[in-house]
Amino acid sequence: MAAKIISGNEVGEKIREELKEEINSLKGKGVTPGLATVLVGDDPASQVYVRNKGRACEKLGIYSEQHNLPRDTEETKLLELIAGLNEDPKIHGILVQLPLPKHIDESKVLYAIDPSKDVDGFHPTNVGLFFTEKNFEDMIGKQLFLPCTPHGCIELLQRSGVELSGKDAVILGRSNIVGKPVALLLMANNATVTICHSRTKDLDKICQKADVLVAAIGKPKFVKADMVKEGVVVIDVGINRTEEGLVGDVDFEAVKEKASMITPVPGGVGPMTITMLLANTVKSAKRTEKMMA
Ligand code: NDP
Repeated sequence: MAAKIISGNEVGEKIREELKEEINSLKGKGVTPGLATVLVGDDPASQVYVRNKGRACEKLGIYSEQHNLPRDTEETKLLELIAGLNEDPKIHGILVQLPLPKHIDESKVLYAIDPSKDVDGFHPTNVGLFFTEKNFEDMIGKQLFLPCTPHGCIELLQRSGVELSGKDAVILGRSNIVGKPVALLLMANNATVTICHSRTKDLDKICQKADVLVAAIGKPKFVKADMVKEGVVVIDVGINRTEEGLVGDVDFEAVKEKASMITPVPGGVGPMTITMLLANTVKSAKRTEKMMA
């Protein structure tokens, strides 16, 4: 039987509706959540991402400002801009669109963002807080920002009613922005987690054991139907631009015939990333409101 499709558009829409209520309540108390995006250079994909984030803010009533800087911007100028945004009370979240041009030290820039405005969740303070929490409820309850894409994956699973406790979860990919944080979040939800990467042996066999499979490797249609077991739940994080358009890391048409649930690409994890960014911005604004109260 074909899998149930986990729609990131639908789940994201539901979360954004919930956020709208929180935003209206914050506005009633004199706080309008504000997000600043910073883009250096003219990479077309990055321009689209930043524009979409601005539009998503507008739709929800979040104040947003976009700082588009030329490719040859000096690192010191960028750091000055971030220092200003750190101090700006209108701004509750700062997002620097990656990748940055090669002459700029990416870590230095990300570390310059005030951790209390680091809505991407990449600052070492947030990463450290995230790492030290054991339970998911504690992670979301504390004033730390979970990274958006991994948090979006967990929301998709939870809101689709997938029980994670005691399940075997396999993650393909060990990057700092997806694979590793997804592993921590699944573990915090009591799954037993295996992380695979390019040196993993017997990858097929490991994948075949998965109750939940998260693919984040950036290889089009890498996960084939014979690599998964019947009834697996598949979260496809991959975004690959191919001649046939955007495809994920999973051979969707074939795998959906064996899976019980699966995310499509596009329309799966992608919309959740922006949604969780908005959620983090609202979370940050709520803290401001509490400090004012
Ligand atoms: P990275 O390139 O940083 O990491 C890829 C990971 O996959 C590495 O750990 C690598 O292993 C592993 N890998 C590569 N080839 C294989 C293989 N043949 N078998 C097993 N593991 C392999 O990618 P990201 O984590 O940044 O992104 C992964 C995908 O997710 C991309 O398609 C990206 O576009 C997408 N993405 C989507 C987002 C969304 O919002 N939907 C957000 C972020 C990313 P090793 O470490 O050994 O090199």
